[in-house]
Formats: sequence, structure tokens, C-alpha cells
Amino acid sequence: MIYLDHHATTPVDPRVFEAMQPYFTTHFGNAASRNHAYGWAADHAVERARDQVAGLIGAIGKEIVFTSGATESINLALKGAAMAYASAGRHLVTTNAEHPATLDSMAFLETQGFEVTYLPVDETGRVSPEQVAAALRPDTVLVSLLHGNNEVGTLQPLAEIGALCHEKGVLLHVDAAQATGKVPLDVTAMPLDLVSISAHKLYGPKGVGALYVRRKGPRVRLEPQMHGGGHERGMRSGTLNVPGIVGLGEACAIAQQELPTESVRLRELRDRLYQALTTALPGVTLNGHPTERLPGNLNVSFAAANGQRLMASLKELAVSSGSACTTASLEPSHVLRALGVSPELAHNSLRFGLGRFTTAEEIDRAAAIVIEQVQRLRAEHPLSPTGDPHADPALPHG
Ligand SMILES: *Cc1c(COP(=O)(O)O)cnc(C)c1O
Repeated sequence: MIYLDHHATTPVDPRVFEAMQPYFTTHFGNAASRNHAYGWAADHAVERARDQVAGLIGAIGKEIVFTSGATESINLALKGAAMAYASAGRHLVTTNAEHPATLDSMAFLETQGFEVTYLPVDETGRVSPEQVAAALRPDTVLVSLLHGNNEVGTLQPLAEIGALCHEKGVLLHVDAAQATGKVPLDVTAMPLDLVSISAHKLYGPKGVGALYVRRKGPRVRLEPQMHGGGHERGMRSGTLNVPGIVGLGEACAIAQQELPTESVRLRELRDRLYQALTTALPGVTLNGHPTERLPGNLNVSFAAANGQRLMASLKELAVSSGSACTTASLEPSHVLRALGVSPELAHNSLRFGLGRFTTAEEIDRAAAIVIEQVQRLRAEHPLSPTGDPHADPALPHG
């Protein structure tokens, strides 16, 4: 099989796995044990990883809080900031194309007396600095944006939006689960206050992540969401997942080193796939932004090719469809809908996620398989040979 679903998860890089191994067995200590060498070794490894994570985004170690993944980081950032700053205001701003971790945290905050503005994204998945500026109110405390959309890869104009947030004294949280290590992200160059990171989207292990919390200009306060022994400077209690954290640190160090070459390689492979599909097939449309996009992302809709049957025919490929992946339901993706893609075309969409171990041979093979199957499905519907789904009302749509 060919794995092209790197937005869902990535394999652990063998170098990461190797770095983690001793921390399951030899160095099994609790990083909070202050009285013996087992604890010191674990603590030393955690602090080294903290610096590695910070290094990837231009932060300092003290600004990194370890969590169980980006879902937890996002919950801590949004609920933690909303609660800590509630006396200053109870209004938050986000978009309608966010990850469920953000949308559901926001929905929860709405039940707690907070007000949320959901900005509509444009047909490429972007919000403009002007839109954000217009949404800010005197009682706005936080803006949350997804940088590197997990479905269509769209990147946001963070530098401009961060600058205007800071001007108004509003915090900016960024869900960078997909973007960290894939595109440059620097909290000294961009005024970001909170950044959510996930290890398993970055060739690290599942179940570990980090939240960057700005310490200076401004010093961000968070109400902890997990209470206990006061780990992570009181922001996130719970015994640290030392092997996982070591893995996240190593994954960040590798990503930092390889980003410049790897992002070019992935972009070329991604463009090669798109070229192959659009050269062979009419009725293929790109979803997302043509250039401001994660290098390994390709999301395309195929007119007049039943999405469900197309997915079912791609047995050798691990890819995702444009139907909601979070549930068993066949709702069209809320992200594609937010971009204005019709429910029909959303169902007939495929998300290709290329990764570190994807080869040119795999891309050529994947393209050939998809082309063959789309042509076969369209041939079964001779009434719409051009690939217009509206040309044949009898076509089943997902
Ligand atoms: C995967 C993902 C998350 C959730 O991260 P976990 O570490 O799996 O909890 C959040 N946001 C985006 C954009 C993601 O891709």
C-alpha cells in the first residue's frame, strides 16, 4: 500500500524511536523525582526536549508546556485564556474552517457565557487581516486561527493578523498541529501568543504535544485545565510522558534541520501529482489556496466520479475523502463547505497527504491508479463524459 494520509498521522521516524527507547527502560525515572539520579536523568531529557521544541519555533524552553497532544493544547489555550482573562472581556474570534478541537472548545465556552465570532473563510480557506480587524471589539480577548488547515492545507497571514491583535491587546492562538516543522514558524518574527503542537503529525509518537505560551510582551496567563501536582509551572499537572516528550523533542530537532530541503522536495512531489491528475483528467479542481498551502497537501475534487465508490476502488492507496472523517456519518466536510465547495463535489474529493518517506515512484503509481479509477467510474456514466456532475441528475452523490 501507498501511505498518502500524513495529515491524519505520520510514522515515527526511526531516529525518533531510537532516541525514545532508553526512556522506557534504562532511564525510566519520574522527571519530578528530585532526590536521585533516575529523576535527574528524566528531568534532564525533558528539559533538553523543551529546548528542542522551543528551537523549532524561535521560542525559549520556559515557554513550552508539554501536553497529551494538540487537542489538549488547544483546549488549554482557549479555555485557559478565556477563563484567565474573563474579567477583561468574554469575546473570542475564530473561523468556520477550524479543527473540531477548536470548534468544540469554542462551543463549550459559549455554554459558559462567552461569545464567539466565527469568521467565514474565502474560497481558498483564508481570512484577511481586515476581516479580523473588523471583528475585534473592546471585550475581545483572543483570536484563534488554524495555520496549515488539516484538510486543504491553507496557511493564514499570521504576521499581519498577529500584529493587529497585539496592537489591540488581543491574544492570538494558532493551531499549528499541521504546520510545525513543515513551514517556517517563528514566534519572534510573528507576534503569536499561544501555539498548539502535536508530535504525531511530525514523525513523533502519538499522545504527546506541546503548547507555546508567550512569557514576554505580553506574559500570557492561563487557567489550568488539569489540576494536581503543579507540573509544567502549574499549567498542566500530571506525571510527564518522558519517552513521548523525548520523541517530540527529537522530532522537532530533525524537522528544524530538514525543513528547508524537505519542504522543497514535498512541494515538487505534490505538484507532480497534481500535474499528472489534471493532465489526464478533465473536471479536476483544486481545493484550498494555490500557493499559501502546506507543501505536502493536495486536496482535489473530481466531477462526476462518485466519491464513495472512488474511495472504495483505491484499495492500494491510504488517502482521505471529503466526507467527515470524524464520524461514521457521510456529512460533506465542513471545511470544504466553508470554502464554498458544493456538497456533491465535497463528497467527490480526495485529500492526499505526502510525507517524509513518500517517493516519486509512489506518486507516479498513485496518480496512475487514481486516473484509471476515475476514468472507469466516469465510463460507467456515459451521460456525463465531460465530468460535470450536474449534467446527469441520475448520478449518485456519495
Ligand atoms: C491532528 C490535529 C489536531 C489534534 O491533534 P492531536 O495531537 O491528535 O490531539 C488539532 N488540529 C489539527 C489541525 C490537527 O491536524
